[in-house]
Amino acid sequence: MSTPESQNPSASDLTTDDASSVSKSAAKKAAKKAVKEAKKETPAAAAPSLAVDEQDPLASNYGEVPLVELQSKTAEDVSHWTEVGHLTNALENQSVLIRGRAQTIRAVGNKMSFVVVRERGFTVQCVVTVQPDTVSCQMVKYVAGLSRESIIDVEGVVSVPSVEIKGTTQQVEVQVRKLYCVSRAAVLPINIEDAARSDVEIEKALQAGETLVRVNQDTRLNNRVLDLRTPANQGIFRIQSQVGNIFRQFLISEGFFEIHSPKLIAGSSEGGAAVFKLNYKGQEACLAQSPQLHKQMAICGDFGRIFEIGPVFRAEDSFTHRHLCEFTGLDVEMEIKRHYSEVMDVVGPLFVAMFDSLNKNCAKELEAVARQYPFQPLMYLPETLRLTFEEGVQMLKEAGVEVDPFGDLNTETERKLGQLVLEKYGTEFYILHRYPLAVRPFYTMPCHDNPAYSNSFDVFIRGEEIISGAQRVHVPELLTERAQALGIDVKTISTYIDSFRYGAPPHGGFGVGLERVVMLFCGLNNIRKTSLFPRDPLRLAP
Ligand code: ATP
Repeated sequence: MSTPESQNPSASDLTTDDASSVSKSAAKKAAKKAVKEAKKETPAAAAPSLAVDEQDPLASNYGEVPLVELQSKTAEDVSHWTEVGHLTNALENQSVLIRGRAQTIRAVGNKMSFVVVRERGFTVQCVVTVQPDTVSCQMVKYVAGLSRESIIDVEGVVSVPSVEIKGTTQQVEVQVRKLYCVSRAAVLPINIEDAARSDVEIEKALQAGETLVRVNQDTRLNNRVLDLRTPANQGIFRIQSQVGNIFRQFLISEGFFEIHSPKLIAGSSEGGAAVFKLNYKGQEACLAQSPQLHKQMAICGDFGRIFEIGPVFRAEDSFTHRHLCEFTGLDVEMEIKRHYSEVMDVVGPLFVAMFDSLNKNCAKELEAVARQYPFQPLMYLPETLRLTFEEGVQMLKEAGVEVDPFGDLNTETERKLGQLVLEKYGTEFYILHRYPLAVRPFYTMPCHDNPAYSNSFDVFIRGEEIISGAQRVHVPELLTERAQALGIDVKTISTYIDSFRYGAPPHGGFGVGLERVVMLFCGLNNIRKTSLFPRDPLRLAP
């Protein structure tokens, strides 16, 4: 794509030779005129520079863009700007205009500088060489003095080198004619290059006697804005977006619609101590631990099939790799005719569609994640495996692991079972159902044939839970009884219980943790890696 040439003849028409042939004062005059003219121009074509060298007749081709030019001074067509990721040899010899970060800057003598420009994970090498009518030595020096991660606008011509360019995603170069700094970066607390390094690379270097910087998790999170710029993080959050997209699209295609339930609630949604309490205009209130109660109430409002994507707050005291104090819940609730298997019939195809889509449409992102955090692609079956809790317990028993048949599985036994399931059935994604009633929330429907079990299920990826689901109790008397049995003050949930008194359809649903899905699909070791700005018991900022 071509860009308009500079409209500033007084600056660009002067070659270096011309300049040397005119008197010093004339050159000064021309340069001053160039600055003046440049100020009239738009940043897109030839931004006026703040700190131009008045001795340089080509001064208008580079410099800092004054703030006023970036204050929405002129609205103009920006369709001629090219994305770095779109720079291919099809654009050879064409003039392009790009914006990105100066990822690396390298001067070669005083006549040449290289800048690798990065935009949304794509990188291109830009070459700044002294040219009679466009690039001066001062410009080369200016470019060499840019700071890493500054945002720059570059205008130049695309060239295709005969040899492979190492270290950039794009296999073309931009021969720079103009370069302006839009926002200058201060000294970086962490280098993006260091933050993007894999442990494998660090270990390899160590064996070769070289010590490379390892950026630890806390430093990353303290400087999250920089950390987010790594290719792996660019991938992780695009994958996360795709998980949300597929969840939404799939459910809508199955006749569900999206709701938004309140996050400020009286009483707790799940019971237990893990609630963030707050003062609601003098009333005791808390942040919702899940949309559980309200999504069921929406079912009583005849919404039939619904889902929600929203924040969930848990005042977790545990410092684990998979718990956050705020996460994004993907929640579903639906009427059922006969059996909670109708809910599992949604879970299986939904997640298979999601995994298929991630593998197909996020291949580049997954590759970027795997480059820094190597992992094997998730193994899953087209038809999702279902095992009963009893069958799971039996498998563990046969493998020599004793568990309480009416208790819950702990992290370790869940992992072990995941391993056994993988060996026996060849899948890392499966459903375990008919859990003991004692380990499920009060609103879970007991089994018809044995009240020690419940019509509930958990879903696992790589041996870790990503979903809890169940048929819910829709009978208010039984609901009250169950809540009381679990020590819940029914007064605090009376509006919820009352909603089942006016005819309530049998229903069920499930809740998924978005960050967990991404963490486990990508085989990552910590949920903080898949939360944009994680909130855990010790972290409330940035
Ligand atoms: P866990 O046993 O792992 O603590 P849970 O049984 O408390 O989870 P539910 O209350 O059933 O989980 O929530 C449903 C889903 O929400 C979980 O399967 C998980 O994916 C996610 N989830 C639950 N708690 C957290 C948390 N503290 N941080 C991140 N995700 C969570």
